Amino acid sequence: MTRYIVRGWSLSLVFVVTMFISACNSNGWSKRELTIIDRSDSVMFVTTLPDDSVILRTPSVDVSMQELKSQELQTLMAKMLRTVTDPSQDGVGIAAPQVGINRRIIWVQRLDKEGEPFECYVNIRIDSLYGETRRGPEGCLSVPGYAGMVTRNTDVVISYADLGSGNLKKEHVEGYTAVIFQHECDHLDGILYVDRADSVFINQTWMDELKQYEFTRPDWW
Ligand code: ZN
Repeated sequence: MTRYIVRGWSLSLVFVVTMFISACNSNGWSKRELTIIDRSDSVMFVTTLPDDSVILRTPSVDVSMQELKSQELQTLMAKMLRTVTDPSQDGVGIAAPQVGINRRIIWVQRLDKEGEPFECYVNIRIDSLYGETRRGPEGCLSVPGYAGMVTRNTDVVISYADLGSGNLKKEHVEGYTAVIFQHECDHLDGILYVDRADSVFINQTWMDELKQYEFTRPDWW
């Protein structure tokens, strides 16, 4: 009897270990994350309210050192950039939950730098908010066709992982770019601008633009 129980426990352990290994590949990305990274077109499907509320409301986790050096991260970053800069989206920032992946990865258009380049930040956090508070309009790719008035700080200090070494870097950002960082970092904590807005309204120009695009959820999603 004891022997059978022990054997039962052993089989259970093998089952659990097998399930764990199949859930995580050698680079640490989950099976679902790998499916999204590998199978998405270069312009990814963007999660929206209300259908993707669970993903958009789930706090994101850090990218490990191993994942930082993986090809999967490079592929995901490249596809996120193609997505945010595609004419169908035309955003100034995007966060990984917006493509279905709850990891602390964002792209921000650095409007404060010459040439206004898009830059990617991994394991990013806002260390401090300061300066004045200003009320201004915001929109979100995950709430298409709407805009809202949000009060944000003019200055932030961000920390993030250096993409080469993984070492923590810190930076002070100000102006509208600081607002983009606040908006995108909110996504990583499951917060949307509509939670902070004192008013939300239809952006008719954007609504009209959306009509020329067809957003289809992939069949494997
Ligand atoms: Zn957004």
